[in-house]
Parts: sequence; C-alpha cells; structure tokens
Amino acid sequence: MDSGSRKVGSLPGPRAGLTYHGRMRPGSPSIEQIRRAPKVLLHDHLDGGLRPATIVELAAEQGYRKLPTTDPDALAAWFVAGAAGGDLVRYLEGFAHTVALLQHTEALIRVAEECVEDLAEDGVVYAEVRFAPELHTEAGLALDDVVEAVLAGFERGMRREAARGRPIVVRTLLTAMRTAARSLEIAECAVRHRDEGVAGFDVAGREAGFPPSRHLDAFQLVQRENFHTTVHAGEAFGLPSIWEALQWCNAERLGHGVRIVDDIAVGADGTVGLGRLAAYVRDTRTPLEMCPTSNVQTGVARSLGQHPLGLLVRLRFRVTVNTDNRLMSGVSLSSELAAVAEAFGYGWAELEWLTLNAIKSAFYPFDKRLALITGRIKPGFAALAQEDALQVPVPGR
Ligand SMILES: [Zn+2]
Repeated sequence: MDSGSRKVGSLPGPRAGLTYHGRMRPGSPSIEQIRRAPKVLLHDHLDGGLRPATIVELAAEQGYRKLPTTDPDALAAWFVAGAAGGDLVRYLEGFAHTVALLQHTEALIRVAEECVEDLAEDGVVYAEVRFAPELHTEAGLALDDVVEAVLAGFERGMRREAARGRPIVVRTLLTAMRTAARSLEIAECAVRHRDEGVAGFDVAGREAGFPPSRHLDAFQLVQRENFHTTVHAGEAFGLPSIWEALQWCNAERLGHGVRIVDDIAVGADGTVGLGRLAAYVRDTRTPLEMCPTSNVQTGVARSLGQHPLGLLVRLRFRVTVNTDNRLMSGVSLSSELAAVAEAFGYGWAELEWLTLNAIKSAFYPFDKRLALITGRIKPGFAALAQEDALQVPVPGR
C-alpha cells in the first residue's frame, strides 16, 4: 500500500424523496424498464443458461434418466437451490446434467439458438457467451464440431431475432479448463474460428493450485495471433491469481476479479489507498466482468449490498455487470442490473455507465462497437431516462 491515499470519488447517491409507480425504491429503474434498455453481456456460460423445459425434452430424447425431476418448474427451482446452497458438490451436479445433455450437434445448435432468443427477449443487444469445447466431446464430437454447432445455433438465432425486429449480436469465447491440459488446442481452435464468431479465449475452473501460468503456451499463441484473452481470476482466490492473469497471461479482461478489493484499503474517514496491482487494474481500465448474484451464491460476497462492486464503481474501476449462469443463479441481465441498482441506489446514469463499460470492453471491432453505442445504446438509455423524467412524481408510499 505504498501508492498513497486519496479521497474516494463519489457518484450521485439515490435520488431520495420521490417515489414513482412500479419502482422498487426511489430513483432505481424497475426491472420492466431495465428489460427495455439496450444491454451488453460479456460473461455468460452456455451450459449455465439452458431453459429448464429444454433440459427435460433433451433428456427424454436422449434417454437420460438422471434428472432429479422432469417438471420444468421444479427443475428450475432445483438448479437455483443447488447454486444458492453454498454446497459446491451440489452446484457442480447441476453442470453435470447440462453438460451431459450437450454432447450432440443438434442439442448444441438448439441450446445456442435458444440462448440468443432468451437474451434478445431480455433486451440484450450484444453478448459474448462462453463454453468449454473440451466438455462436449464425450459422444465423439471433435472440438471443431462442437464449436461449429454452437456458432451455427447462434447464427440461426441472430437471423431469427433480426427478422423479428430485435437484432442482437452474439459471439462466443472458448474456455479451456484450468485443471485439464487441452488449453493450447482450445486456443488454436479459437483462433481458427475467429472470423466465424469466436471473439476470444478464456480459462476457467478451480483457481487454487491451478495457476493460469500452467497454460502459458496457449496464452502466448493467442497473443502472437493478435487475438483476445479473458481469464477467470480473483473469484474466490486472491491477488496472485489476478496478477498472474494480467502479467503472465496477457488477460485483457478479468472474469469476476472481485478479490482486487484485497489490494484496496478504505479508512474510517473515507480515504482510500490503492496497492500497485489495484492501481494497475484501474489505470489500465482493465474490465472486471462482475457477476454479483453468482458471487453471493458461491460465498464470495456475503450479500449483494456488501458486494465489492459498490466500492469499485465509486472508485471508477471499469466495472461491468454480468449473469455468469442464468439457469443456476435464476437471473437475467435485467434482473441482475435491477438488483444492483436496488442494492446501491443506482439510476439510469449508472446503468448506462455500466453498459458503456461493457461495450467498450467487448472483443468486437472498434467501428462496430461505436455503431452500437451511437445507434442503439445511447439513444435507448436517453429515451428511457426521458420517459422517466416525464412521469409525474407521486407522494411516497
Ligand atoms: Zn464464469
């Protein structure tokens, strides 16, 4: 902590005193309004976002009998209970089911197409959805077959949504598992499909004991190819994991990155000191792909209100809000943004800032990012804020 202390920057707090119809609290946009906002999602797992009804149907088609129930509503509740219970074994059991059902081309295409539809329905305009190809080869598919199936499903979904009048761009990140040894193959596969919708390379899985530096050859390949890397780092495990991701693996973004707060000291008087690593992350505008509900469920944060996101936003780190696993966490990007707005008293200005952070950090060509910002995101948020301003305030209830 030798980089000195400085006062915490401050954002405007909740606009107290007025209550609007349909609001969860004064000043915070409602989930219905947020659903209509043009949103950007950078951290979402394909195998963590299946529709419960699709799981039931795929299980019937494939003769898979291990599901705890075949009632879609009960199944949805089972997944969320597993994630929220703080029991890692139970949490991973959920992924065992979804991954088991995603071993065939048709199932991968279907789930990818439905993913696009669900995100468009939620008002997302740009998304990077990730998955680990190596987990989908048990029935004999090659890595390239898996990737091509998912890309085909995304293409179908995007075509259908464009025809429906709600255009969305969905790209993918290929994830290598930290605990396995196929990262170089996955990185090569990602580069091979870069012009068909693969946006970058990612590493995920247990952090403790499996530093990303075990996969240096993969990261170096991605760098040599002028391609993109994000790394799951600093979720449960601390600063060394973040440092390695940035300084050994050339990560351009951090998946979660929550533990960067371990390098930030906040004094009782509100002064803040950033350590060297936290200062580096903030100064280089390194995007943090934060997934607050997922972090609460896995015990990384005690509650949404106590999530480090609030402090990091105040300090103007490049924070983005994401879903992680929509099925397991029972969230959508809209519900996640609404929860964050509620917890920290954010209004449209903060939600737009978070969205602009995300699109600026996307692994997507600069001109196209700019086109989304000027053509969809800014006009969309402006219209919603304007609509809000026109509402007549009523006395608080
Ligand atoms: Zn993740």
